[in-house]
Amino acid sequence: MELGPEDVWPRHPSQCWRETLDYAREHGWRLVPHSGHTFGTLKCESGSCEFKIFSTGRGAENVARQARKDIDKCVHSATTTSALAVVDDLLRKANAMVEAAEAMLAKQQAEDAALLLDEAGGLVEQLAAWDEFGRLVHEIETQSATIANALTGVGADPSTTVRQATETATAQVAEAKTELDNAPPLADVVKTRRIQCRELTRRIEDVRNSLNL
Ligand SMILES: [Zn+2]
Repeated sequence: MELGPEDVWPRHPSQCWRETLDYAREHGWRLVPHSGHTFGTLKCESGSCEFKIFSTGRGAENVARQARKDIDKCVHSATTTSALAVVDDLLRKANAMVEAAEAMLAKQQAEDAALLLDEAGGLVEQLAAWDEFGRLVHEIETQSATIANALTGVGADPSTTVRQATETATAQVAEAKTELDNAPPLADVVKTRRIQCRELTRRIEDVRNSLNL
């Protein structure tokens, strides 16, 4: 027999376990009740995580607390799976926007340098200046290609400005963080994505600082 989160579950003799069992139910876990020393087996939504619960025993409080951590690590629920898919999509888009914004800055710098060199004059006579000019033109082309790839890759308007790209990325990272707040906090896949959010935020800050936004 297996009891779903909506079923009536047998009452555990100890308070700490009752709390953990409630916590498990709220997270969609199921219980296979046993009789005797073993109270039952808890299983997550997909059955990938499971652990036994004893009716009595030493350190029940610690074990019950650890069980709540195990519930917080489970990533097999449909809610978590769909939340992570949403987060991944947002992070992919935010990353493209940041990449485009960074390339826009680099392109602008190369354009400014090329303009300065041109205004200084005598390009044709000075071989070194001519080489540098060629390098800058190549840099501008490379960055233009990066911008176009990043923007079209996520279906963004090719005429997006650096400011718009930065704002869009900021909003996408914020949305991803909100989604992650509803995901199991101790799961590694959640931690990794939080790190990605922090890295993107840092790159966005760098772009903002360069622009004095
Ligand atoms: Zn699980």
